[in-house]
Amino acid sequence: MKLFSVIGITKSGKTTTIENIIRELRKRRYTVGSVKEIHFEAFAIDTPGSNTDRHRKAGSQLVTARGNYETDILYDRRLKLPEIMRHYDFDYVVLEGVTDTCAPKIITAHNTEEVDERLDGTVFAISGKLANSMREYKGLPVISAITECERLVDLVIEKVFERLPDVADECCSACGYTCTQLTERILAGKAAREDCRISDGRIALQIDGREIPIVPFVQKILYNAVTGVVKELDGYRENGEITVTIKGKL
Ligand code: SF4
Repeated sequence: MKLFSVIGITKSGKTTTIENIIRELRKRRYTVGSVKEIHFEAFAIDTPGSNTDRHRKAGSQLVTARGNYETDILYDRRLKLPEIMRHYDFDYVVLEGVTDTCAPKIITAHNTEEVDERLDGTVFAISGKLANSMREYKGLPVISAITECERLVDLVIEKVFERLPDVADECCSACGYTCTQLTERILAGKAAREDCRISDGRIALQIDGREIPIVPFVQKILYNAVTGVVKELDGYRENGEITVTIKGKL
């Protein structure tokens, strides 16, 4: 699953940019999901006193509102992005306004000052209102999502890669960098997605068919625990592929 974020201040053209990118990606037959960051402090879809609110206040930890045309799953807390991504299974996921991610980014802006405030090595394009007056800024292409959407999506396809685990900086540096630094290096053409050591496939964990990223420290614990037990068994083969399946409780 490939992930990128469109960031910028209010009314800089974020949502219009995203709408056009999503339409173009769908036109090219990619599957697409999206996440919208809400900056309004008191935002909540649920309202005090509603039936779902009463479920929650009674202690339900995950409430689902199931209607004829829409299903809303309501958590009572702010989820981290990797937790949200567990619900997603698409070719591309577009994030609107999400900045706490190592994912590649497009900045939408009215002017270059707004770009400068957000510019770092994870940015691969600039769009929004600024695209009416500029074609390039600090080496980055400035592309209108309205008049040149195909070109912008070509760039998304060229630059955006399979999402990195996005773990906290102190949790892993097995590639020699943080997740954000590796993103910057990939976008700069100095590294490859495969340089992320977590997904080299040697130790993999799936829960209900979904790949769960595990940092090298935990990989080592699992490796030692599993091989420590199975190497005593008949049929053990050095460097063989080991699969352990756990279904429910013992
Ligand atoms: S090895 Fe992967 S998870 Fe670890 S810091 Fe590098 S990119 Fe992030």
